[in-house]
Amino acid sequence: MTDSKDFSGLARASMASTDDLKSSSAEPTSATSAPAADTAAAPTAKPAGTAQDMAQKSARVRASLKSQLGNEVFDSWFNALEFDGFDGEALRVSVPVKFLKSWIQTHYADVLLKCAALGFPGVQRVDVMLRQPGGTNRPASRPQADVGVRTATDTAQMPPVRPMSAPHPTQRVQVNGLEGSPLDPRYTFESFVVGPANRMAHAGATQVAETIFADERGFNPLFIHSGVGHGKTHLLHAIAWEVKRRTPQAQVLYLTAERFRFQFVEALRAQEAMAFKDRFRSIDMLLIDDLEFMQGEKTELEFDHIINTLLDGGRQLVVASSRPPSQLARFNERMRSRLQRGLVTEIGTLDQELRSKIIERRVQEKRLIDPSFAIPRDAMELLSNQLTESGRELEGAVTRLYAQWQYMRTPITVDVVEAVVRDLVQGIEPRRIKIEDILKIVSRHFGVSRGDILSQRRHRSVVWPRQIGMYLAKQLTSRSLPEIGRRFGNRDHTTVLHAIRKIEGEIGGNTRLKDEIEELKKQLAS
Ligand code: ADP
Ligand code: MG
Repeated sequence: MTDSKDFSGLARASMASTDDLKSSSAEPTSATSAPAADTAAAPTAKPAGTAQDMAQKSARVRASLKSQLGNEVFDSWFNALEFDGFDGEALRVSVPVKFLKSWIQTHYADVLLKCAALGFPGVQRVDVMLRQPGGTNRPASRPQADVGVRTATDTAQMPPVRPMSAPHPTQRVQVNGLEGSPLDPRYTFESFVVGPANRMAHAGATQVAETIFADERGFNPLFIHSGVGHGKTHLLHAIAWEVKRRTPQAQVLYLTAERFRFQFVEALRAQEAMAFKDRFRSIDMLLIDDLEFMQGEKTELEFDHIINTLLDGGRQLVVASSRPPSQLARFNERMRSRLQRGLVTEIGTLDQELRSKIIERRVQEKRLIDPSFAIPRDAMELLSNQLTESGRELEGAVTRLYAQWQYMRTPITVDVVEAVVRDLVQGIEPRRIKIEDILKIVSRHFGVSRGDILSQRRHRSVVWPRQIGMYLAKQLTSRSLPEIGRRFGNRDHTTVLHAIRKIEGEIGGNTRLKDEIEELKKQLAS
């Protein structure tokens, strides 16, 4: 979900600047007090000299601005300034954000004109424009010394990179009256980097996408599992996009388990459960993401029926989950074995090389929007060394660095990267869990009140949740046994110890309980 949100945020940001660009290019605002009529006409530019000439002249203006204003002011406001053209009278410059434009106009108009005259003799006024990221008016004049293309490894073998906006906007798909979860247009096979960790999953995914309507079919079902951020969702979206690309009329439905449950519960409420099930019959391919969140007795049962119907009808099923089928204790044995009948494959930990390539890939995507964006080799290495957990962090880091470059033109040094990494790593540290949270989650999960848990009642329906609560408190907080006892209704520390030993003992031989506890932990962590 976060990924889609990030994406729409970016889309919004670039739309905003396009609008800004439209209005600003229609009426460039002069940094001098020259009459508006003079500034409105699009410059019928006399030849501005060669690109090299332009670069030299603008370098002179920059140097002069720097010496007049000092490095700090220059870096804050003029680092991102680009020189777009000179017609003998008006000098056109541009900045990437509206705020910078108006700040320069209100605070530095005079000094800018004075310095401009050093590089562009005869200049009458300076028009400050807003430029679209990667806009076509990007001059060749910007000195590239500090932003050259320096990538960590050779990218010659990588497939071509497409702009982020291609090929389709994020889509919600209606299939046969069922509403699919949105598909992210960036998650295609083209943008997926293959390495040892995901080679098998990738092969299975491409095979399924390519052979869905062929006589010789790929694996069915295809079951991909892994830890968070290893690329499962990316692969599922890639399959969906690929099938649609090859066969636009194919009925492809991508659903997160949560969305499945939501729609099913809605159907139940509207007494349309039968119709709901029927709608799945004609689907060619069902992709279910985050299967571990398929919760609720009725939902599970319904899902069981639906996948049986689909598989019996020769339809394709693709599933992604944090755990392999054998560890989905909540599902019945028949369902687990059905899910294992095709290909079950795990995406392993992303190794260093794969991580660097994913970063590179993301940087290349950004460079399509703004070719001056680059991350030096040492900073790249730092990123791929430090962000080891998931592709999500890698993507987040590049997005942040890109934003800094867009808005501040801060050169991306190791120091800048370190700050971003620190931020990200702090951001993903598990939040501190309080005993109060545990009481709340446990009481909700077992349907007993907080008061019951804290009471002296000894009925099993209360004792069991209480013991699980104490066990979780010991595992997830740094509280001592006496402290936990006190918070669980003034109990003795030996009672707490007894509870912990009891639950530990039970977990050993009971995968269902283990799953249940994992689920509670997940709820507490979110
Ligand atoms: P999961 O579903 O396993 O939690 P995602 O598919 O959401 O992981 O991946 C998290 C992020 O990492 C996404 O931005 C995804 O594009 C990126 N990512 C993960 N693996 C790869 C890969 N092999 N190539 C390119 N990007 C990847
Ligand atoms: Mg996912």
